[in-house]
Order: sequence, then structure tokens, then C-alpha cells
Amino acid sequence: MNALPERIAQQRALAATLGDGWLEGPSCEPYATDAALIGGVALGVARPASTADTSALARVAVAHRVALVAQGARTGLVGAAVPDRSGTQCVVSFDRMRAIRAFDPANRSITVEAGVRLSDLNRVAAEAGLCLPIDLGSDPAAGGLVGANAGGSRLIKYGDVRRNVLGVEVVLADAAGTVIDALAPLRKRNAGFDVTQCFIGANGANGLVTAVSFALAPLERSSCAAFVAFASYDAALAGLLAFERAFGEMLSAFEFMSAAAVDCVAAAFPAVRVPFAAGDAACYALVEIATGMPGLDALLEERALATLDALANERVVLDAACAPAERFWRIRDALPAAVAQGGVPLSFDVSFPRGALAAFITDAEQWIAAAHPSLSCHAFGHFGDGGCHLVVSIPHAIAQRYGPLQQVALRGALYDRVVRAGGCFSAEHGVGPVNVAYYRKLVPAESRQLAAAVQHAIDPLGLIGRVRY
Ligand SMILES: Cc1cc2nc3c(=O)[nH]c(=O)nc-3n(C[C@H](O)[C@H](O)[C@H](O)COP(=O)(O)OP(=O)(O)OC[C@H]3O[C@@H](n4cnc5c(N)ncnc54)[C@H](O)[C@@H]3O)c2cc1C
Repeated sequence: MNALPERIAQQRALAATLGDGWLEGPSCEPYATDAALIGGVALGVARPASTADTSALARVAVAHRVALVAQGARTGLVGAAVPDRSGTQCVVSFDRMRAIRAFDPANRSITVEAGVRLSDLNRVAAEAGLCLPIDLGSDPAAGGLVGANAGGSRLIKYGDVRRNVLGVEVVLADAAGTVIDALAPLRKRNAGFDVTQCFIGANGANGLVTAVSFALAPLERSSCAAFVAFASYDAALAGLLAFERAFGEMLSAFEFMSAAAVDCVAAAFPAVRVPFAAGDAACYALVEIATGMPGLDALLEERALATLDALANERVVLDAACAPAERFWRIRDALPAAVAQGGVPLSFDVSFPRGALAAFITDAEQWIAAAHPSLSCHAFGHFGDGGCHLVVSIPHAIAQRYGPLQQVALRGALYDRVVRAGGCFSAEHGVGPVNVAYYRKLVPAESRQLAAAVQHAIDPLGLIGRVRY
């Protein structure tokens, strides 16, 4: 069959299976682009309303060899949840699967369908003083959290999504549309190979996640926050270690921002007040301490001030302010938009052993200044877990000098520096069409071959996801 009749036959079969859960033509457009404005054209959008619908969809996809791209809330940043430009890939959106299947405060767990948004899940959990402690600047869906294995600002205390998943229900792309039920909300399940791990952080490959059981944490009841200026990134690391010594597992965030990035916020959003200007600061950190035990605000602040005093006496800290955390999060949350106003942003999401982070950022800033003097470099992110969002900003006036080829060259050269410093080219955003070439270049062949073998065993026709490992 040639391409057009084949596509029409696929669309007819999917429409017959999904009924009003099938979209074609212009109504697919909202599903075709993600938060990074990466997108394509869909064969159509399947919107199953249940696990049974998803299984039926998988059976038809296998029979008609339709490629499927699972999609949550499209807040992903690597193009993994949207179709390519061929018009042959079917988006599977879980936006109709929004049921809370079970909420068990005694077990501190919640089981939700793949389309449930993090904010909705947390509204339910909060009724029993609980939360899913994944803290992002976006509002993803449960399936997308699992697919991307999101990290976020409180990873230092609570870990990534992987650490908070108790179970998943998954539909496979085989002739039977097999449903894997590994959903039981058990904290201990050491009964052989853990199949859930085949789907967490798989970037949409291997299977369609239809439901997830998450472990919940007690809501934080006491907290304190500081905004701290450091003379160097090495000093920021010394500050991080001092706060960990003082507060142990109560340190819930240590977000750093280069002085240049904070200057961008001050210039772009004057209403977002930066508490002080420390002329000699190389970087700042938002430090948050929090615990589920109520009534400790004053004690935490007293200890934080004592820690900051000691660091100031050692000349590690240049200046600091304590205030309710929301005030400082406004600065942190404004960073990506503020930096983007200065030019075309080339974004990097990289990670290092914490001890190597300071040297890498200094090296990257110096290299950009020397090799690309017209560009500016802004670093910020999750210092506490070794994560760094580096944005190289290309001024609009010279953007034509930095076309796709130049951008690829710059990106490749920077990733080489990341690897030399012992880091990873994808800290938390995952792998998608945007960076799969670097996956192939930078991940050792033995690891890639094993990933490919697993993918082939689970999805032998290669129908699911944008990434072939
Ligand atoms: C402003 C902003 C701030 C962000 N901050 C952070 C941050 O701090 N840390 C971080 O880690 N990320 C961050 N992100 C990225 C993003 O929010 C996360 O990757 C999130 O987990 C994506 O969820 P989603 O529901 O939007 O998924 P989508 O973007 O729709 O999909 C993400 C991946 O999951 C797969 N997928 C989706 N649903 C399913 C399913 N049901 N079954 C199988 N696979 C599925 C997709 O195919 C894709 O590979 C941020 C994004 C934005 C826009």
C-alpha cells in the first residue's frame, strides 16, 4: 500500500476504535508542540478514556503499524512528547484519564491515572497533610512525570520521581495490547526483577503508562529561607556543605544563580525585588530548610542565622537575607524568562558530582568569554544535587551569525567540556529528538546496546516513543 491510502486506513481504524476519543486535522494542533516550542504534525490524536481503551488502541496500532507518541501535559523540554513532521505518528494524550483511583493516607500513597496533573494530585493529598514532593516550575501529568523521571528543586531532600514511584500500570504495543499491572502501592517489593524500572525515565519508550502509584510525604510545617551571596562557586559549595552539617536532611533546596543571571532578573522584572546588591558576588543561592514538624520556624531561622554568621566570619558568605521562601522563589522562578529576554537562548541541562560543579561553571564561563565574546553565559539551578542549567544567550542583533550549524558546533564543544569534567549531558530533562544525537555520541556503546535490547524485547516493532535506543 502506498503512503496516503495506508494513512487513511490507519486513521479509519483508530477512529473506529476510539470514537469521540479520536482527533484529526486542525483539532490536533494543540497537541503537536511542547513547552520548548518543538513540534510537528500528527497523524491524529488518540485520547483514551480508560486502560481498556489504551489496550484497544495498542492492538490497532500493532495491526496497522502505527507509531505512537505518549503525551502528558507537554511541559517536557526535549521534544519527546510530540510527533515529528512526517504526519505518520499518532499522539496518545492521556488528558481524559484524570481519575484518582485510590488515596490511602495511612499508607501515605496515591494511585492516579496518567493524565492527573501534579497540582490536582497535591490538592487531594493536602487534605490529609501530605504531598508528592516533586517541585517543578511546571504542572506536569503523572504519566509525563514518570516518562521524564523529573527532578526539580527539592531533589536534594526527596529524590527524583523514580524514588517516589511505588508502582505503574502499563499497556504494551503487542498484538494483545497487554496490560502490565505492577501498580500495588508497596514500599517493599523485592520479588525479582522490578519491571516498573523499564518505564520510569524511558522518555516515552517501551510502553504506555496508564496509571501510577506514588509515595507521599508529610507536608512541610516549619521552614525558613535565606538568599545568600557568595564570592565564588567554590564558596557556594562550602556554604552547601555547612548547611548540610547544620540541618542534615532538613535542607530542602539549595538553588544557585550566577550574578549575571540575577542581574537579568533585576533588569527584566524590576517588580521581583532582589534583596540586596552584593557587588563582589559571583553567585547567589536560595537556601531553604523545611521539616514536617510544626512550631520550629523561629528555631530554624535562629540556626540559619548562626550558620550564616559563621560563614560570613570565614569570608565564605558576602551577604545574606532571611525572609519567607516565596519571596526568594520569585527570583528563582523568573530566571529562565529573564535570561531569555537577552537574546536567543541555547539551554543546557547538565549535572556533575557536586565537587566538580564549581570548576565546570567557571570553565564554561571563561570558555564562552574567550571563544564567543559576543555571547553571554548564565548559570543557575539545583546546585544541591549537582544540577546546572546553563543558558548561552545569543544577542538578537547577531543571531544570524549563529545559525543551526554554529549552534550545533557550540553545543558539541560545550558537551565535550561537560564530559571532561565528569558530568552528564542530560541532568533531568531526559532524552528526546533535541538531544538524542548526543545520547548516541556520549553514552557508552555497551550501555546503549543493553538499552536497545530491552527496548526491542518490550516493543519489538519499535512503535512507541520518539527515541530508538
Ligand atoms: C517552566 C518549566 C519548568 C520545569 N522545571 C523542571 C525541573 O525543575 N525539573 C525537571 O526535571 N523538569 C522540569 N521541567 C520539564 C517538565 O516539566 C518535566 O519533564 C515533566 O515531567 C514533563 O511532564 P509532562 O506531563 O508535561 O510530560 P510530556 O512533556 O507530555 O512528556 C514527557 C515525556 O514523558 C512521556 N510520557 C508522557 N506521558 C506518558 C505516558 N502516559 N506513558 C509513557 N510515557 C509518557 C512522553 O512521551 C515524553 O517522553 C520544566 C518544564 C517547564 C516548562
